[in-house]
Amino acid sequence: MSMSCDLVTQKAVRSIFILITLLLVSLLGDAEAKTPFFKGIKKTVVLDPGHGGHDIGARGPDGGLEKNVTLTLATELAAALRDEYKVVMTRTGDYGLDLAGRTNTANHSEADLFISIHTGGSFLHNAGGIIIFYFRELSDQTLASGSEPLKSFEDSDDQITWDEIQQKHTGSSSILAKSIQSRISGKVKFSRCNVQSAPLLVLRGADMPAVLIETGYLTNPAEEKALKDPEVISRLAAAIRQGVEDFFSKFE
Ligand SMILES: [Zn+2]
Repeated sequence: MSMSCDLVTQKAVRSIFILITLLLVSLLGDAEAKTPFFKGIKKTVVLDPGHGGHDIGARGPDGGLEKNVTLTLATELAAALRDEYKVVMTRTGDYGLDLAGRTNTANHSEADLFISIHTGGSFLHNAGGIIIFYFRELSDQTLASGSEPLKSFEDSDDQITWDEIQQKHTGSSSILAKSIQSRISGKVKFSRCNVQSAPLLVLRGADMPAVLIETGYLTNPAEEKALKDPEVISRLAAAIRQGVEDFFSKFE
């Protein structure tokens, strides 16, 4: 009786030992598998195609509508980003959205980046070029005219109301704008590609680095033609993607 009991105990001990060994091996294997997984948690990029529905935005001399150009470019950019990033679009079809709704999508998605896409529009047909905006309460023009200096909220414990939350990110947003600018410049033929700051409402409440890109003037006949060219759109998307990668690599 006691012999067989011992035998059972021995067998049980051996089984437990084997189980523990298997468990350890599987845990170690898991840990190895998980290291790159944790390193590679996908960043979230929210893309905001400007206008939509009744709100057509700018109209080109050849009938091109800003709301369509922004959706085409955002869709192309989303496809270019999706292998490495989680991409959320504020709109995926031809419908209107208010500015707060666009910013809220970025905040609710806990986005790492927010990119709003527009085209320029002017009654001057020769006005042209790409402008990448980041948010500042006072625009470059106002600052240049010598008014009071902008109070910096970076690294400050001041109470910030939700509608001015973007001021926490002024520094990183300007780095994002410059990262995208340096990838676009030279690769896509537009008359210029500048970075500017402006108090843009759609960026104001965004609690992450954010820019608004005006991808050329739709009211400029040459640029309207370019913005209808799928080749130009895909080059723009590739350049913006590289700018986004450069931006993230600066903070890793
Ligand atoms: Zn617009």
